[in-house]
Amino acid sequence: MKVVALVGGVGGARFLLGLKAALGIPGSDAHQITALVNVGDDIWLHGLRICPDLDTCMYTLGGGIDTERGWGRAKESWTIGEELAAYGADPSWFGLGDRDVATHLIRSRMLRAGYPLSAVTEALCARWQPGVRLLPASDDRVETHVVVDDDTPDGPAQRAIHFQEWWVRHRGKLKAHRFASVGAEEATAAPGVLEAIAEADVVLLAPSNPVVSVGTILAVPGIKAALRAGPAPVIGLSPIVGGRPLRGMADACLDAIGVETSAEGVGRHYGARSSADGLLDGWLVHETDQAVVEGVAVRAVPLLMTDTETTARMARQALELAGVAGAFSDD
Ligand code: GDP
Ligand code: CA
Repeated sequence: MKVVALVGGVGGARFLLGLKAALGIPGSDAHQITALVNVGDDIWLHGLRICPDLDTCMYTLGGGIDTERGWGRAKESWTIGEELAAYGADPSWFGLGDRDVATHLIRSRMLRAGYPLSAVTEALCARWQPGVRLLPASDDRVETHVVVDDDTPDGPAQRAIHFQEWWVRHRGKLKAHRFASVGAEEATAAPGVLEAIAEADVVLLAPSNPVVSVGTILAVPGIKAALRAGPAPVIGLSPIVGGRPLRGMADACLDAIGVETSAEGVGRHYGARSSADGLLDGWLVHETDQAVVEGVAVRAVPLLMTDTETTARMARQALELAGVAGAFSDD
């Protein structure tokens, strides 16, 4: 059985841990997970290519994540960042751990030598053995930028900043007027992405940020059309519980695109595959929420990823809603 999951960083990585457990990976070769990972957060800093969502997935699944922070390496030290700060090197707002830098050095070196990001990711995963095939949504630059207010000497204006600057430096507090996926129009899906969708038995939208994680994956030309036309049922899990995101600032992102921060709002935003441009066959909302999404089978189940076993139950519910659970061993 082949499962494709669209994922961002922390929410996506935790979901993949549960999905692996639900499918008995590692241990069983019967099932295969391909994760299509958001690259919208990727950024060049200090000459290093940093891919936050790919790395969060890789470290989480490979056992190298700092579980308290949810990102970056366990047992991290920060000497390189301190030395950069002592030079006054810009930017200073991005936490760059020493262990993490090794990953970025290898990635940057390979990219400069001409390898595509998908090949680089595969090479890095040889060490981490995530048990899931991690595919960047695209090998091309598809970078999320955020349009914010800017006070200039000539009066109020707007400017676009990189998503990381908005998210990490400003903690999402600057009002976001608009998100732009820079490069998306000319981008193509990374090798293997469209093939994985075409061969999938089921597609899951992780409870990741619907705008800047899943939304940016869907902005890569061809991916959404492949999902809509593909043979596999598409089931989404709501990242919004009780009208709020669980971690992060998805509400600020949803505000910017005019979508209500609710399980129903996000479900309707993804839309029914039977409608003109929707995606979903099924939509899971948290047990205390309800949602009506025309043309979509909605089910309310526990959606809190408190531990791997609970998350595995969420994944099983998604497979059940897709009508493929019988094909998956339970454990
Ligand atoms: P990021 O790239 O690190 O921001 O991570 P993702 O985009 O993959 O996931 C962020 C989203 O995960 C946020 O919108 C959260 O609301 C959602 N999230 C985090 N923890 C949980 C959880 O336990 N349950 C559900 N349903 N959503 C969660
Ligand atoms: Ca992210």
